[in-house]
Amino acid sequence: MRVLVIGANGQVGKYVIDKLNDSGHEPVAMVRDTDQVPQFEDKGIRSVIGDLEKDFESAFYNIEAVIFAAGSGPHTGADKTILIDQEGAIRAIERAKHFGIKRFVMLSSMAADRPESGAEAMKHYLYAKHRADEYLKQSGLDYTIVRPGRLTNDRGNGKIKIQEHINSYGEIPREDVAETLSFLISGAKAENKAYDLLSGDQRIHEALAN
Ligand code: NAP
Repeated sequence: MRVLVIGANGQVGKYVIDKLNDSGHEPVAMVRDTDQVPQFEDKGIRSVIGDLEKDFESAFYNIEAVIFAAGSGPHTGADKTILIDQEGAIRAIERAKHFGIKRFVMLSSMAADRPESGAEAMKHYLYAKHRADEYLKQSGLDYTIVRPGRLTNDRGNGKIKIQEHINSYGEIPREDVAETLSFLISGAKAENKAYDLLSGDQRIHEALAN
């Protein structure tokens, strides 16, 4: 499947590109800077330039599915969080609809389904993620929303815990998040579902078989 990865230059996004490529999909890396292109093109992966705060419509040409893995990051203020994590995601969902792309996988965050429960400093972020997730649920697209706990740079071991709700907080390597997103892109069972995601003891394909 030809999959547009929004946020492809990010720490999760780079893994997503590799996992999709390794599993026989055709990833297309959306990046916002021409300097970010060679790392993908050297591996034979197509890149498109697009900025969620500007025009990124051309990135959607000839695309079959979208993984949204972008975010403004922890070092920007609430204004950027709303512009990118919320409004950027909503505009991406609209672009997907406009181009007739049905499959959309969203990298969200644990607690985005209950933003009022978050620490005060996190609330604007959780509400931004929440609004984007709710918009996707109402969009008519075949969505899957993944809400991981704290992301680490540990090497992935391919073992996860994925449930509609997990009642404890925890962490997960970015590599395992990426492998889960890549696996979900073609998993019909996960369509129109939202999951919390942590490290666990089930292999990704086993955890998602049920
Ligand atoms: P990251 O390394 O900061 O990657 C975010 C990507 O988004 C970057 O590639 C960045 O582009 C891109 N981006 C930012 N603004 C953009 C714009 N205007 N247009 C297009 N792309 C834009 O983050 P990560 O570690 O991969 O995590 C991905 C996401 O997971 C986070 O953003 C967050 O929402 C979510 N998450 C994080 C945690 C955590 O513990 N950190 C937990 C749960 C969920 P550049 O490379 O050009 O800067």
